[in-house]
Amino acid sequence: LALTLAACGGGGAGTGADGGSSSAPADKGDITVGVAMPTQTSERWIADGNNVKAGLEKAGYKVDLQYANDDIPTQSQQIDQMITKGDKVLIVAAIDGTALSSQLSSAASAGIKVISYDRLIRGSKDVDFYVSFDNYKVGVQQGTSLLTGLGLKNADGSEGTAAGPFNVELFAGSLDDNNAQFFWDGAYDTLKPYIDSGKLKVKSGQTKIDQAAILRWQQETAQKRMEDLLTSAYNDGSKVDGVLSPYDGISRGIITALQNAGYGGSGTKMPVITGQDAEIASVKLINDGVQYSTIFKDTRKLADQAVTAATALVEGKEPEANDTKTYDNGVKVVPSYLLESQVVTKDNVKSALVDTGYYTQAEVDAGK
Ligand code: BGC
Repeated sequence: LALTLAACGGGGAGTGADGGSSSAPADKGDITVGVAMPTQTSERWIADGNNVKAGLEKAGYKVDLQYANDDIPTQSQQIDQMITKGDKVLIVAAIDGTALSSQLSSAASAGIKVISYDRLIRGSKDVDFYVSFDNYKVGVQQGTSLLTGLGLKNADGSEGTAAGPFNVELFAGSLDDNNAQFFWDGAYDTLKPYIDSGKLKVKSGQTKIDQAAILRWQQETAQKRMEDLLTSAYNDGSKVDGVLSPYDGISRGIITALQNAGYGGSGTKMPVITGQDAEIASVKLINDGVQYSTIFKDTRKLADQAVTAATALVEGKEPEANDTKTYDNGVKVVPSYLLESQVVTKDNVKSALVDTGYYTQAEVDAGK
């Protein structure tokens, strides 16, 4: 088999594989790969779906791409159908990481291989491979950028000159998503010494992940929680200085609540607010000085890795892992390929997002 898939994560253009003339075996066109994505309400999953589909098609496969509207029964049904239709490999970004065991067990019985995409599927031995980012490190980057934004740390990692104390509030993602705990742990471990020393004060007292979690990562739920925090913990004239947010959609909900309460208006500063995914609307907010940071995860590279792993599995090979110890799904440690993420602030929007071709300058300027 002369496989020409590039897919080794090298920067560059959208959909990966750049293998010159295709020498895909003739029978590849008969193989369908099922791709199950959670939702189209967040840009990143649309980009993921498009990039995975294009990469698979370029490699000669048929693709069955489905979005489940963040509804667990819908996703289960879509996967059931993929199995019934005889898809050979499933690439799944789960809504609820624990809800797919029976689907995966049917897949395994039918000889179908399963790649867990970005989010680890838990509680099943029938997950063959995991492609994702170093999710603990994403959390460290979020926590660190909150510290940098507040002046408690310098960009080079040394201690900053700000003394604090600063009032901060903490948000987490959806608890049914395995990533949420990793992001939280990375961020909390980074912030804890500053909380312990009193430089950071979580004025609401809500320092547990289940107090901070936002089901399905919903913007409206985050806005509501921020409004509640403002009325309950900041009704004495004190101000919020920083908010740890795990995802740009959540950040936008937080920002709306803060702006409605007068933050960012004449003479008042917006708190330092973090994020994730470099969604275009949030990149504009960063350029406008409203949001402080986001974490850029290049979904083109993740899609490339998923295509590479799918190809290996179709050929009966083990996909190449670069991590075989971190991601225990409760039943087994799933061999993984993990990519690196990058903090983006106003200072590097252009170099990280425009110069790499992820967005055009016009998109960044327009915020869409
Ligand atoms: C992904 C993040 C994303 C979040 C909400 C997580 O599983 O890793 O990139 O922000 O889901 O969609």
